[in-house]
Amino acid sequence: GLSIGGISRDRIARLRESEAEAFRKARPKSAAKVGNGLPGFFGGVPMHWMNDWPTPFPILVDSAKGATITDIDGNRLDDFCLGDTGSMFGHSPPPVARAIRRQAGRGLTYMLPSEDALAIGPLLAQRFGLPFWQIATTATDANRFALRVARAITGREKILVFNGCYHGSVDETMVRLVDSRPVNRPGLAGEFRDLTKTAKVIEFNDVVALEAALKDRDVACVIAEPVLTNSCMVLPDRGFHDALRKLTRAAGTLLLIDETHTISTGPGGYTRKFGLQPDLFVLGKPIAGGVPASVWGMSDEVANRYADYNRTKQPGYSGMGTTLSANPLQFAAMRATLEEVMTSENYDRMDRLALRLDAGLTGVIDRYNLPWHVARVGARVEFICAPGPLRNGAEAETAHAPELEAAVHVALVNQGVLIAPFHNMMLISPATTGAQVNRLITAFATVAARLTA
Ligand code: PMP
Repeated sequence: GLSIGGISRDRIARLRESEAEAFRKARPKSAAKVGNGLPGFFGGVPMHWMNDWPTPFPILVDSAKGATITDIDGNRLDDFCLGDTGSMFGHSPPPVARAIRRQAGRGLTYMLPSEDALAIGPLLAQRFGLPFWQIATTATDANRFALRVARAITGREKILVFNGCYHGSVDETMVRLVDSRPVNRPGLAGEFRDLTKTAKVIEFNDVVALEAALKDRDVACVIAEPVLTNSCMVLPDRGFHDALRKLTRAAGTLLLIDETHTISTGPGGYTRKFGLQPDLFVLGKPIAGGVPASVWGMSDEVANRYADYNRTKQPGYSGMGTTLSANPLQFAAMRATLEEVMTSENYDRMDRLALRLDAGLTGVIDRYNLPWHVARVGARVEFICAPGPLRNGAEAETAHAPELEAAVHVALVNQGVLIAPFHNMMLISPATTGAQVNRLITAFATVAARLTA
C-alpha cells in the first residue's frame, strides 16, 4: 500500500532522510570514529545486533548513569531502552555498583560459592515461590537448561511455543507459523534440521489449538512468556493463563514461564502478581543489575523427579552448565539487585510513571487521530503503529511497521530520547524521572505532528 500505520510512505521516507542527516550532524566525533564501522570487527560491530539500530551508525557511548546515556559527542539521551531490559533498573544502580566494587578485589570467578550465594537461594525462593534454583549466565542458557530438565523427566521429546515468541537463541524455539503452517523461523543461519519435528507452534491466546496440541501427550513442556513481548506486545486474554495451567497439568506437560521481560510487572514478576503456577521459571537480563546472570527455578515436584532421574541416568556430562556461571561477581550483583533495587517502593514509582507515559502517549495518538495504540505491562510500555489490542503473534507481526518505526526512532533520538530499536519498547527504571517521561511524551507529540501535518 501507499501508507504504513496511517502515514504515507513518502512522508516516512522524507522523515527518515532528514532525521538521519540531523543525527549525523550532531555527532561529528562519532561519525569519524564509527561512521564506517568499528575496526577489526566483522560487519563493523562487535555484535551484529548493533547494526540493526535504525540510526545511520551506532551511538558511541561515553557513559551511562541512572536513565541517561551520554555519547562521545556529549549528546545526552533519556534512556528508555535500558539495554533492552538488561538495565531495567537503571544504569549502574548504586547498590549494584557498590557490590561490584566490593567484589572486584576478592576474585571474579572460581567455580565455588561465596557467602552471597547463601543469601540468594532463599531470596529467590521467597520472591518467586519456587523452592529450588540454578544460576546461569544468560536467559538463553537458563531456558535451554530448563527445557533439558523438562524433557529428561517427562521422557518426551516435543516442546510447545507460541507463534512470535522469543526466548533467546534457543534452537528448539525457532519455529513460526507462516500462513498457519509451522516452519523453521525464517532467517536462521546454518540450520539444517527441521525444527518443527520437535517443536509445536500455536498462536498465543488460542485455547482450542492448545488443547489439540497437547492431546497426544507428547509435549514435555510449554515455554511461554506471561505476555508475548518480543514482537508487538500481546496481552493474555482473561482466563488464558488459567486454561494454560489446567490443560498442561491434564496432559502431563510442564509449564515454563520466562519472565525476562515481564519482570517489569512487579518484584515477583507477572507470576506472583497474577498467581501463575509454573513448574519451571526463568529470569535473565536484569536480575543482576546489568552483570550477565540468569536464574532458573524448579517446583518441588520437578526437583524430585529430576533427582530421581539423576539417580538412574547414565553417568556423564548433563549438557548443562557453563564455566563462568554462578561466579561471585554475579552473586554480589544479584544480591544487591534483589535486596536493594527490586523493591516494592521502586516498583511503585516505576508503575506510576509508566501509567503517566501510557496516558501521555495515548493522548497524543488520540489528538492526532493516528490508528495506533499503547500496550503496557507494569513498567514496560510500547506504542504500536496499528490498531489494538493485538491477540496473537500473527497479528503482532502484521502490526509491525519497520520503516515507520525506524523513522520515529531516529526522530526521537534527535530530540534526546532513546527507545528500544526493534519493538518500540519504553522501560521505566527506578532512576527515571517525571521530567524524562514528560520529555518523551513531548518528543512523541512533535513526531506525530510532523507525520500528520
Ligand atoms: N527470554 C526472553 C523473553 C527475552 O526477551 C530474551 C532476550 N530478549 C531472552 C530470553 C534471552 O536473553 P539473553 O539474550 O540474555 O540470552
